[in-house]
Amino acid sequence: MEFKNFSQFIKNSKVGKPFADALASGRIFGTRCRRCGRTFYPPRPECPDCLDEDMEYVEVPSRGKLLTYTAIYVPPAHYAMFPPTMPFAKVTQIPCPVGVVEVDGGLRVMGWIPDVDLKTLKVGEMFDIQPRTLKNGQVTIVLSPV
Ligand SMILES: [Zn+2]
Repeated sequence: MEFKNFSQFIKNSKVGKPFADALASGRIFGTRCRRCGRTFYPPRPECPDCLDEDMEYVEVPSRGKLLTYTAIYVPPAHYAMFPPTMPFAKVTQIPCPVGVVEVDGGLRVMGWIPDVDLKTLKVGEMFDIQPRTLKNGQVTIVLSPV
């Protein structure tokens, strides 16, 4: 998969291609420093503690606890969901829930929470973390309540 098709921004393309390829196969990769063992998500090409580039890819667990969430009222185009058209309606887009899930080991993964009412979300609940290909061909991370 081309890295440009991932919906989130990772500024270093050195780790972007393997990360994007893993997403295309349904997995989420982070990196681990071979010297000190510290892990990172999103993946980093070097360890900020050791300043070492000897990193290896590690798969991020696909389930974790919801740490926090919010709603984007002007979401990016690929997240936008539109309510049925109503005369004189002021709302043109449905607020888009996004959250951060913490997995075992402490890595935190941000993702989109589609098709869930924001009022039903509870911090601490378990969520699955999965890559999803959107209608426009981009891949993003989706969080789903277990
Ligand atoms: Zn290190």
